[in-house]
Amino acid sequence: MILHLRRDLPEEKIQEMVTDLEAYRIDTGGMPVLIISSKYKVVPDAWTDFVDEYHVMDTDIQLASRTYLPETRSIALGDVEFCSSNTVMISGPCAVENWDQIHASASFLKESGVKFMRAGSYKPRTSPYTFQGLGLEGLKMLAKIREEFGLKIVTEAKDATHVDQVIEYADIVQVGAKAMYDQGILKACGRAKKPILIKRGFGSTLQEFVQAAEFVLSAGNSQVMLCERGIRSFETGTRFTLDLCGVAFLKEQTNLPIILDPSHAMGHAYGVADLTRACVAMGVEGLLIETHPTPSKAWSDAAQQLDFEAFSAMQASLDPIAGAVGRKMM
Ligand code: PEP
Ligand code: MN
Repeated sequence: MILHLRRDLPEEKIQEMVTDLEAYRIDTGGMPVLIISSKYKVVPDAWTDFVDEYHVMDTDIQLASRTYLPETRSIALGDVEFCSSNTVMISGPCAVENWDQIHASASFLKESGVKFMRAGSYKPRTSPYTFQGLGLEGLKMLAKIREEFGLKIVTEAKDATHVDQVIEYADIVQVGAKAMYDQGILKACGRAKKPILIKRGFGSTLQEFVQAAEFVLSAGNSQVMLCERGIRSFETGTRFTLDLCGVAFLKEQTNLPIILDPSHAMGHAYGVADLTRACVAMGVEGLLIETHPTPSKAWSDAAQQLDFEAFSAMQASLDPIAGAVGRKMM
């Protein structure tokens, strides 16, 4: 249940309510808002006088629910808005590998009109014996790239030990599929004043996925995007299975911007252009596509990254598809 409290309530009353109801508190335009379990279907008697308005919710998808806020939230960075009239391209290599690689990527993206560059510097690998990312050194390179090219940087935190560092350097903080349940990361993202892109765990239900976003929203950060990147099925021919039905569910049920990542779902470069077109046709707020100057030499996710030629050919086909679903590619 979401409670909009009277604006004139003394602070100590609000605190009493928070404690009694085990509530999360966010303030919206000077109005105290409490979020409590969706199990509550009526306001407890002791507190009815303090509540201006309340929203009974079916499940713990609360702040993210269209029942509560019917309009898709928009997230603006500079002159680009992730919103219901745009599909924003985010592209770049899986990982920051070295200065030449990240500089060549940025230079290509800038020329292509892409405004958001992705690249991980803390890589959540499934083997301890593979490249784990450059860490802080890579974040510093990304900061230089932002300065030189004016690109906005999307980069991920893989655990809570460095999440504050990532928050400091990123323009959008990515929470990876394997980190979706990490409470330390989610709580830090809740305190951050920057947009958060949460990727769906590949074994997570849609309910669990959106509840991860609720951790961030209920901690006071309203700038959250959901990224579908494929879930694990019985199929082994592709790396994961891109859940477009799930995207239809998220569009219907939630007010959060949606980003689609066909690269990690497919796991092979050959399907990415077709899938990207299908993603644009879904009518979503953004795309996340891996590109690399020389994919075969990439230190992670080599098989799925597009080379620049393939990216450009794909990019040239997207405008009419976006137009057909009432959007503009950005
Ligand atoms: C990535 O974006 O490079 C990544 C590690 O993705 P995921 O968390 O979806 O596996
Ligand atoms: Mn990757």
